[in-house]
Amino acid sequence: MGVIDELKHAVKGHILTKEEELLPYKTDASYFSGSKPMAVLLPSDVSEVSNILKICNREGINVISRGGGTSLTGSATVLTNSIVLAMTRMNRIIHISSEDRYAIVEPGVRIDDLNYELSEIGFMYPPDPGSSIAATVGGSISTNAGGLRGVMYGSTKEWVLGLQVVLSDGTVIETGGRVLKRSAGYDLTALFVGSEGTLGIITLATLKITPLPERIGRVIAFYDSIERAGAATAIIKKSGLTPITAEFMDKVSLDSISKNMGLSFSDSGNSDYMLIVDIASTDESLNRHLEKALSLIKGTGPRSVRIIYDETEIRNITNSRKGLYSSILSERDREGQYAVMGDIVVPPSTLSNALLDIRNLVGKYGFKVALFGHIGDGNIHANIIVNPSDAKEMERVSALMNELGRIALINGGSVSAEHGIGLEKKRLLRMEMEYKESSRNIELMTSIKAVFDKKGILNRGKLL
Ligand SMILES: Cc1cc2nc3c(=O)[nH]c(=O)nc-3n(C[C@H](O)[C@H](O)[C@H](O)COP(=O)(O)OP(=O)(O)OC[C@H]3O[C@@H](n4cnc5c(N)ncnc54)[C@H](O)[C@@H]3O)c2cc1C
Repeated sequence: MGVIDELKHAVKGHILTKEEELLPYKTDASYFSGSKPMAVLLPSDVSEVSNILKICNREGINVISRGGGTSLTGSATVLTNSIVLAMTRMNRIIHISSEDRYAIVEPGVRIDDLNYELSEIGFMYPPDPGSSIAATVGGSISTNAGGLRGVMYGSTKEWVLGLQVVLSDGTVIETGGRVLKRSAGYDLTALFVGSEGTLGIITLATLKITPLPERIGRVIAFYDSIERAGAATAIIKKSGLTPITAEFMDKVSLDSISKNMGLSFSDSGNSDYMLIVDIASTDESLNRHLEKALSLIKGTGPRSVRIIYDETEIRNITNSRKGLYSSILSERDREGQYAVMGDIVVPPSTLSNALLDIRNLVGKYGFKVALFGHIGDGNIHANIIVNPSDAKEMERVSALMNELGRIALINGGSVSAEHGIGLEKKRLLRMEMEYKESSRNIELMTSIKAVFDKKGILNRGKLL
């Protein structure tokens, strides 16, 4: 029996091998073009994943696990001599315990689907990437995704209690568990979070859940000055208020959502920057907290600021923020163009300076760039529209990304906030470690990779 037949047998026929079936799996949402995989396997349980890995380990075939394929760094992009392990059939919510505050789910469950189920009992799973309609639990754990609620709840790493993982030789292990506290040796669960499918395949996750906030209200503000917009969230946080969401968009982003989604603001006065701050609270104290946020924001000198009570307007703004990346993609005006996404983070207290430096930097290069981000946790995205197959242009993009990374590091932040490393930020990861005079970290990561994946068959060429 040939290897493909053996793999087909391992997944009971759930395999794609025809040219037209394989093409959609070549790449993810990043700008990397990728190669055609040898086959796409769609396992339905852990024993099938284990059997696939035994075969691939024996044959030295590279295995690229894939959830929703929304990676922006090329972490699910296919390199040569690879099979794709599409986890989408493993999409069951196994158990929810509101008293113990956890949910046990398969990796192919989409984040929005999990949150829909949880909302029925008044709970939620807080990590909320803009891609939550398509991104899966397995993919978001593997990239340590953040998202819109990071300012209050942090990123995915805070919400993973335990994992079932298939190692490169097919061995199945369990890490962590169902309890909030555990002090039992090295934290292997944490090691898999953000490992981008390079250490093992996640086949089950035990996630922390939390009650839905009683009420959420919103304040929006428009600014002419990027530094002032940048100062607002630190001032709000210093006052003791923690927004559940604090987002920022520049004029390129605002014009794009106005054109593509019909959302515009009569009070924006054609301002260059918008701030969106959501406050979660109880019914009794929501107004008091919103008024406090309003007054703090007023003190930062916006052109206009107001509280929004209208549910439809709140929903429309959220939807356009979540659809912003797609909207910006439609701004491409030359064939072959795509978006390269910068994803840096700084402590909110340094945002004002960092944003000013970023704006000046971007202006120097002359690319079309949309600046937006989860400003409440200091995360800024610079979305650069370029043609990835134009080597000269990409050289300049690379220089811009380096300078962007430097701004993050100088301000005490990181070159990658929430999208991971993938193919795109390997150089920046090294830069960060060199800046911290801790290049040994890369050696340690390389050694860890070798322990978990001796033959290097798990997402080869990514992250390190
Ligand atoms: C429009 C848009 C908005 C976005 N907004 C955000 C945002 O706000 N915040 C944010 O953090 N990210 C954001 N992203 C990036 C991306 O959506 C997230 O990183 C997401 O978590 C990836 O999930 P996925 O299921 O699509 O994973 P994939 O893209 O399929 O895979 C990502 C990585 O996880 C690995 N992987 C997948 N499943 C498994 C598994 N079962 N076991 C082991 N490894 C696995 C893959 O090999 C790959 O390395 C956005 C992307 C888009 C396109």
